[in-house]
Amino acid sequence: MAMFDSLKDTLNKSVAAVSVKSENLVESSRIKSAISNAQKKMEGELSALGSKFYRSWQGGQASVEAFADDFARIQGIEKEIETLKGRLDQLKAEEDKILGGGQKPAAPAAGTIFCTNCGKALPAGSHFCDECGTPVG
Ligand SMILES: [Zn+2]
Repeated sequence: MAMFDSLKDTLNKSVAAVSVKSENLVESSRIKSAISNAQKKMEGELSALGSKFYRSWQGGQASVEAFADDFARIQGIEKEIETLKGRLDQLKAEEDKILGGGQKPAAPAAGTIFCTNCGKALPAGSHFCDECGTPVG
């Protein structure tokens, strides 16, 4: 029963694709919320750093060295966000590969013209349709 076998195969593939997709969805929404948490944390740190810096400037003792720990901490958060974003891109790429997505039809090149008779896309500057021979352009 070759027909049923191939049907089963197709079904198995779609089931696999769907489960990959839902696993990736769970994983990517987890990463997205981690990114948004980290971004909030970073905003908080930056704003705290800003006021701390301002206070120390006001107190006449603004020195960059005094903020080394803060800078390092914020840089750590920033790196964490980069890593998470990288993981997110990776997931997206995996998903595209499995689902055959990400292969959008090529957009017609700028200046493409279309045959008025058969509709074939022709390079700008063509004089005749190379499909049906109708004069174009
Ligand atoms: Zn044509």
